Amino acid sequence: MPPALQCPDCGAIAVGSQMAHADTCPLNRGVNRVLDEDREWFEAHPEVSVRIRPVTPPEVADLLAAGAARPTGDVIVLNLAPGLRMRRFTFAGGAR
Ligand SMILES: [Zn+2]
Repeated sequence: MPPALQCPDCGAIAVGSQMAHADTCPLNRGVNRVLDEDREWFEAHPEVSVRIRPVTPPEVADLLAAGAARPTGDVIVLNLAPGLRMRRFTFAGGAR
């Protein structure tokens, strides 16, 4: 068994690539802020279903803490339905 991956901020243990962070976890708050910005962006651009933006430091920290590869390109955010979005991280070269 590989060693358990743990959030450097709140100590949550990763299960698969998911982590149940503490409500007060700074890393998780940073990611949630980014997700809020995506939601607000789509609310301001209702005719658009795809947003491409640079990856943010909280997202990189979150992925690394969960044992994922470090994304180096843009993030493709898909607006699937109201309140339902998916992020796709890209590597070397990005999406543009
Ligand atoms: Zn955490």
